Amino acid sequence: MLRCALCEASSRTVLCTGCRQLIVPIEQPCEVCAKPMNGAASVCGACQQHRPPFQRTLCATIYQSPASLWVHELKFGGRTDRAAVLASAMLPLLSEVPGDVPMIAMPLHTRRLRSRGYNQALEVVRLIARWQQRPYLNDVLIRSTYTAMQAELSEKERRSNVRGAFTVRKPIGHRRILLVDDVMTTGQTMQAASQCLRDAGVEQVDALVFARSG
Ligand SMILES: [Zn+2]
Ligand SMILES: [Zn+2]
Repeated sequence: MLRCALCEASSRTVLCTGCRQLIVPIEQPCEVCAKPMNGAASVCGACQQHRPPFQRTLCATIYQSPASLWVHELKFGGRTDRAAVLASAMLPLLSEVPGDVPMIAMPLHTRRLRSRGYNQALEVVRLIARWQQRPYLNDVLIRSTYTAMQAELSEKERRSNVRGAFTVRKPIGHRRILLVDDVMTTGQTMQAASQCLRDAGVEQVDALVFARSG
């Protein structure tokens, strides 16, 4: 008998039907960055003005409670079991991505990795890889500069904080990459990491995140 990863009711899927409904999809996401929008446009003003180096963002839900709580528990509470909740919510989005596109988890700097003990994005990627037999690359994209936590910075500070923070340390050999993170806030981290992959010869980077803040 399998149990729901959240409420422990018996369930054949990772999340039971009731718990799946806690994950509210973004109704009208920007086609590029998944920012919640209203109105007729399909691409938000920011993306129209400055096209990000990633093609599009697949996002499971808006960053609000209880989704934000699960992310917090996963990142700061040592609850690696929460990765299953995030990964399971992200699975339906992958129907739009060919099965041979390798995933890369947003890397942490080794210093942060050591203090946290794991990379939460990699925990999610490993589960998706196992459940859907999808390939992923590890140790290719690294975070070479130790940066302040993005959450503690203003938007302008975030941009300069992550610019040039990433390095590709071996040839990638793939034209397309799916870059995976738990949360996208301003998108600056995703932009910097994607730019680094593009500079290394990757033609198309798509973003896959669990939650997006408005
Ligand atoms: Zn449940
Ligand atoms: Zn956008």
